[in-house]
Amino acid sequence: MFEYTIIDKSLENKIILITGAGAGIGKEAAITYAKLGATVILLGKTVSKLEAVYDEIIALGLAEPAIIPLDLKGATKQNYIDMSATIASQFGRLDGALLNASILGELTPFTQIHEQIFNDVMKVNVNAQYLLAQALIPTLQLAPNASLIFTSSGVGNQGRAYWGAYSISKFATEGMMQVIADEYENSTLRTNAINPGATNTGMRTSAYPAEDKDKLATATDIMPLYVYLMSDDSIAVNGKTIKAQ
Ligand code: NAP
Repeated sequence: MFEYTIIDKSLENKIILITGAGAGIGKEAAITYAKLGATVILLGKTVSKLEAVYDEIIALGLAEPAIIPLDLKGATKQNYIDMSATIASQFGRLDGALLNASILGELTPFTQIHEQIFNDVMKVNVNAQYLLAQALIPTLQLAPNASLIFTSSGVGNQGRAYWGAYSISKFATEGMMQVIADEYENSTLRTNAINPGATNTGMRTSAYPAEDKDKLATATDIMPLYVYLMSDDSIAVNGKTIKAQ
């Protein structure tokens, strides 16, 4: 596991957007960030899941989150621009964005990848990340220092049989992260990627339905890296893909 000691209040007063905040790793990151003092903006597809996370954070007596229901498959460039402008006017800046939401598509031999599924995976995992990042960068630049975090995978820099569209999309994610990191080197914005490693979530169960879930890391286990990259301790880190496990 990535070694980092989480310090209380280390994200105090930070405004942090998390995509895919209604389930899995994104949900855990949102609650963890809120516990460390951040005001979190919960973006996701299913409103009821976002509301459940909102309720959990309120019940803990933490800063009130904001909710942005948005389907990354259908959202337009203008949706992202409007969202970023709303964050800027409501909060004055964005200190961090965890681009975590993605879809698996289907595990299948390359010659049998369905065009529609390939396109859906690219839309959510690549196109939406590009539009999100492009729209959010100006608002991230309003912060004294800001962290933009992409989410990769073990198949994001080494292809694997049958992981088709998902693997290809994660290569693109790492490329996008590196392009942005290089352009903003020596600025207040740092851009990195996390490879979470095998983690017990709905997505992992879809990929490996028969495995023993008790042997997997939980989303809580992998939080040290998620906190490190969002905290001021990582200000000098840029353009890296780091393994959470
Ligand atoms: P998950 O449990 O499937 O959660 C994915 C989240 O993304 C959900 O909150 C989901 O919202 C949201 N999402 C999916 N499609 C969306 C859309 N069109 N618009 C908006 N939100 C959407 O996945 P996870 O395991 O936590 O994975 C989180 C990230 O880690 C992903 O990028 C994944 O590729 C990466 N990762 C995971 C593992 C692992 O072992 N779990 C390993 C390597 C990398 P709804 O629930 O509302 O659909």
